[in-house]
Amino acid sequence: MSIKKEYDAVVVGAGPSGAAVAKGLVDAGMEVLVVEKKALPRYKICSGLINEKSLRLTQRYFGDIPKSCYSRPEIIKGVRLWKDGESYTDWPFGEKGAPNVWRAQYDYWLVEGTGAQVRDSCLLKDFLDQGDRLTLICQDSREGRVEIRCRYLVGAEGCLSTIRAKLNPELEREAQWFLAYQNYYQGSCELAPQWYHGFLDPQFGEIYGWFNVKDDLLVFGTSVKRGGRFAPFLQCFTDFLKERFGLRLGRLVRKSSCLGTNMCSTGRFYLGSGNILLVGEAAGFLNMFGEGISSALATGILAAQAISQADGGMKALELYTELSRQERRETMASWKLASRLAGRRLMV
Ligand SMILES: Cc1cc2nc3c(=O)[nH]c(=O)nc-3n(C[C@H](O)[C@H](O)[C@H](O)COP(=O)(O)OP(=O)(O)OC[C@H]3O[C@@H](n4cnc5c(N)ncnc54)[C@H](O)[C@@H]3O)c2cc1C
Repeated sequence: MSIKKEYDAVVVGAGPSGAAVAKGLVDAGMEVLVVEKKALPRYKICSGLINEKSLRLTQRYFGDIPKSCYSRPEIIKGVRLWKDGESYTDWPFGEKGAPNVWRAQYDYWLVEGTGAQVRDSCLLKDFLDQGDRLTLICQDSREGRVEIRCRYLVGAEGCLSTIRAKLNPELEREAQWFLAYQNYYQGSCELAPQWYHGFLDPQFGEIYGWFNVKDDLLVFGTSVKRGGRFAPFLQCFTDFLKERFGLRLGRLVRKSSCLGTNMCSTGRFYLGSGNILLVGEAAGFLNMFGEGISSALATGILAAQAISQADGGMKALELYTELSRQERRETMASWKLASRLAGRRLMV
């Protein structure tokens, strides 16, 4: 199906926040286009743990996660936080544990379930805000340069948001940026695969070092402030896993990285301007230790409610600001807790 000239709303990004807002808007009777720059299903760097809140929202708005999205072990019991190589505290994910999914499959299933028109390999390049109408300029792999008009634009682009960068360039400059780096190796390790392991010792990373298992792959990584070098932290972490937990590395299957900002921990959320709303990580939502699917789904749902209930007096952005207050509080509180657990300020 080709891209039409006009929609009620265009959502940029086919991650969980984009899927949630698209689903809410379609359910409210709006005509919605989701544009995604990558070919779907697309890889997303992630541990793929669907915590209790994410699972509740997924089931309520999309249904049960299909088996095809799961990786082994299918259920992760919780987070095991290591102070050092000997002592740890367990933070279980509730009675049932958390599904361990591949994001490519989970995100694709979500967006396919929205009922919106989904256009992949289509990059939002720019937009013009004309008050009650927006014109988007996209580069589509099949149709070339296309102009799309809409009443509402939703930025669900993840941390690197073209929309946020245009609307609020100071924030881009002033935010502290972090690089997360993750390896996927074949091999073996003595760490219990049913747990997601976090290592808080600062020698393993400027936030923390993590380890988990997906299918037969050992997934581990670290993060540093942008401009810093991750390699020494990663080397130190890898050596530690080898010495303490018998890590044996086989073939390196994938290495990947992405950026994050400290908007989440400092409370510098950016929800949008006029008829443009931002959701998920584009708006700054990311919970402690990098959990972000729950707030991506939650803010997507809230933005859809705000847009569909607007015009009854309050504008969409005003309503969304009101509705997302609790989510913002919880996000900041989660980083305070993380800093307390680590004994140092994280993500600042
Ligand atoms: C190493 C790591 C591990 C993590 N593990 C977990 C975990 O286990 N559980 C959890 O809950 N969270 C985890 N997270 C966080 C989680 O991945 C994110 O918070 C979540 O994906 C945010 O969802 P989103 O919809 O806001 O953005 P994203 O999922 O990033 O989706 C944004 C989409 O927008 C597209 N896009 C961007 N710009 C454009 C454009 N201009 N035009 C068109 N499309 C565009 C991108 O290609 C992308 O597909 C992890 C993060 C990292 C880095």
